[in-house]
Amino acid sequence: MRFFDAHCHVMNLSHPNLSAILNRILDKVGFWKKASISALALFLWLPWGKKALTSVIESDDRIMNLLAIMESDLGDFILQMEEDLKERLWKAQPVVIGNNGDAVRYDKIVLTPLMMDFGLKNYGKYKTVYKVRRKTIEEQMRDLLIGIRRYRAESKHRLFEVYPFMGLNTKNYGINSYGKTVELQVLLDKYFKNFDQDPTPKKRLERLNSFAWDEYQCDIDAVDSSPFLGIKLYPPLGFDPWPEDSAEELGKVKFLYDYCVKKNIPVTSHCSDGGFLVDDSYLEFSSPAKWRKALSWKDPNTNTEPFRNLRLNLAHFGNQEKSSWWRKKEWRDQVTELVCNYDNVYTDISYRGGERIFYDELKGYIKSHPPEKQDKLMQKIIFGSDFMINLMSVDSYSTYLKHFATTSIFSADEKDLFCRQNPERFLFI
Ligand SMILES: [Zn+2]
Repeated sequence: MRFFDAHCHVMNLSHPNLSAILNRILDKVGFWKKASISALALFLWLPWGKKALTSVIESDDRIMNLLAIMESDLGDFILQMEEDLKERLWKAQPVVIGNNGDAVRYDKIVLTPLMMDFGLKNYGKYKTVYKVRRKTIEEQMRDLLIGIRRYRAESKHRLFEVYPFMGLNTKNYGINSYGKTVELQVLLDKYFKNFDQDPTPKKRLERLNSFAWDEYQCDIDAVDSSPFLGIKLYPPLGFDPWPEDSAEELGKVKFLYDYCVKKNIPVTSHCSDGGFLVDDSYLEFSSPAKWRKALSWKDPNTNTEPFRNLRLNLAHFGNQEKSSWWRKKEWRDQVTELVCNYDNVYTDISYRGGERIFYDELKGYIKSHPPEKQDKLMQKIIFGSDFMINLMSVDSYSTYLKHFATTSIFSADEKDLFCRQNPERFLFI
């Protein structure tokens, strides 16, 4: 049986833009560390000032831990995830989820690394001689695919099966003046064209596994199938799920959703108020209210709701860590409403399980609903880690998985819903 971590990232330092990653890191630095960094920054002109500042930053294990994994090539990145699990959690196979007699065993872990389309948000902003001129998703793809190939070649255990999600921001692609999406279609056709020919998850899996990893020499055009399983959308980078104020942008997202519905492509969208906050409208874009509009949109020509069957995962269960206390639960409740009303809408708990107490809160929240809704929620929650981003709250991948594996608040069978049955259904593999 396969255990699923349906939300993780495999990225190096060249993939996000620098200001986004610095922002993300400083966001999570504690008050006193922030205070000492600011205080020491005043003394940067003194020789000891620089040294002291560097050592304060280096003393933060979480920052150094995150930077170390992001400095690694992506093959070694995945290998280190595996080594950590084998050395610190499951020394002998298989993966064990549950306590004592009440346990379910898995022999493989499915990872779906979610790429992010960082685009060139700040291009031209700086007056420097050299600029970041290209940050196409293709470059990131190439690095990730080489990394997976290397993992497959060098891993002793082959514990992971890796099926990446392609990052996409429709704003970074064109549409021609006749209202027909051109570049977007070219991109989607390249990786997902034949997905509508997979009547069953088994067929979909066969398609993905037919990707010739050994033949892949950094040129995806030379390989005639694609290893991508789904699409990742990231509103804080400027993706607007329902851009009502622009006919052109709205046309693009409609094209995308229509494509994903017809081809049965799973889509994961970031849905919390944190993350790589690059676009000023990140709060508005990340809100589940945007998705309610998209899912319930009625096509006036056909009088149908064409996107209501979109296979969608709203990530992080709508977490609102940064919002004021009286608003903290709004998105979570909206996500619950969508999950209960739309058959193909799911939510994942990635990043949230960095603290064990989260699982107790989740259980309490589920139990606060009438029985019918409880059942629905149990069928729609997906386990995810948000590795490597989660290194801002845990020290390792194994610690995060251990919290889930050993919490006794959910039975092993209930956990099996989150880490196998639900993601299997959502991912269609
Ligand atoms: Zn994430």
